[in-house]
Amino acid sequence: MADAPLLMIPGPIEISEAVFQATCARPPSHVAPGFIQAFGDALDTMREVWCAGPDATPFCVAGGGTLAMESAATNLVDRGERVLVVNTGYFGDRMAEMLRRRGADVVQVTAAVADTVPAEAVADALDANTFAAVFATHVDTSTGVRVDAEGIAAAAKKRGVLSCFDGVCATAGERFEMAAWGADVYLTASQKAIGLPAGLALWVASAAAMEKAASLKSPPPMTLDWNTWLPIMQAYQARRPSYFSTPATTLVPALQVGLRELVPVGSEGAMQKRFLAHQRAAEAMRAGWTSLGLSLVPTAPSHAAYTLSAIRYPDGVDSSVLGHIKAAGAIVAGGLHPAIKPTYFRVGHMGDVVGRPNALVSTVRAVAEGLNVVGYRCDVEEACQATASALSD
Ligand SMILES: *Cc1c(COP(=O)(O)O)cnc(C)c1O
Repeated sequence: MADAPLLMIPGPIEISEAVFQATCARPPSHVAPGFIQAFGDALDTMREVWCAGPDATPFCVAGGGTLAMESAATNLVDRGERVLVVNTGYFGDRMAEMLRRRGADVVQVTAAVADTVPAEAVADALDANTFAAVFATHVDTSTGVRVDAEGIAAAAKKRGVLSCFDGVCATAGERFEMAAWGADVYLTASQKAIGLPAGLALWVASAAAMEKAASLKSPPPMTLDWNTWLPIMQAYQARRPSYFSTPATTLVPALQVGLRELVPVGSEGAMQKRFLAHQRAAEAMRAGWTSLGLSLVPTAPSHAAYTLSAIRYPDGVDSSVLGHIKAAGAIVAGGLHPAIKPTYFRVGHMGDVVGRPNALVSTVRAVAEGLNVVGYRCDVEEACQATASALSD
């Protein structure tokens, strides 16, 4: 096939044409008037995408999701404090290790592989002891498992505990209403459902989270400290330049373009529509997988993420199929969770592609064709039809 294969892994993802064009400009100075405007507007728009209130603080710093995680682990928690980690897989393990290195006393409530942790179990764990904060992964990218972020945020708030959600595989794809749910931190990176190239760590912190960060006895390293970055973010929001460390001057204007595609100026309910679009895309992809006789890794459909599908290989198929799927037009990812890594693969369906039915159907087609190449007999056209008709319902 002549076109480049679609990039359908759970990040980095296909980006929109407008975002692509925005990344092609000559790099501006961090004090150029157009850059200042773009940075300020990107930060303002983050609040809308996060469904956050006017008192929440958006941060945009060069880096990745892991940097955003570490900034939360070090700014929300002082040495020696007890924290609860809601662990649903690979990235929960990472967060627990970061918090241990921070010197926190880490208690975990851990799901069985591919299962979720219900909000009631989090509430029970919070009742069993005193905690400074609870950390959860909104969507665990290793298994495609979603937690009930609304329920967990509510359980934390009721007990006066700060809540932090790793939204790296979820933000702008899965429903999350920071203000209405009372969540304290929601963090992500640019290359996932936000729909940009990799390179930006993004998070929004509540007033309570900012108060905590300002009152720490042992402040984090300077580049992670929210209080180092706060005056910078405030300056750009006031449309003034400021300097601590050079921002990613090519990516920030692209972020403004990408976020404004999600929530155009003056739009109403844009995020709700986008969340729904991800749900519909996920359901359509699942119709395709079901038609192919494939089953999902998550133990129940109710906690299977809308941003990606984690799919078990059928009998007799292994990761050697991935190259054939790519040759048929879609790059998908192998397993990531150490306990089940060789038994499944992952297909991302977040960001721009959820509005491109052809891309979604082509991905199902590529998976089906790849499976046929390795000897798993399945009906390619029937699977494509199942996805296409679910999308047109
Ligand atoms: C991708 C991902 C991360 C890590 O992000 P990087 O940008 O690779 O550092 C963290 N958490 C989750 C849930 C992710 O999907």
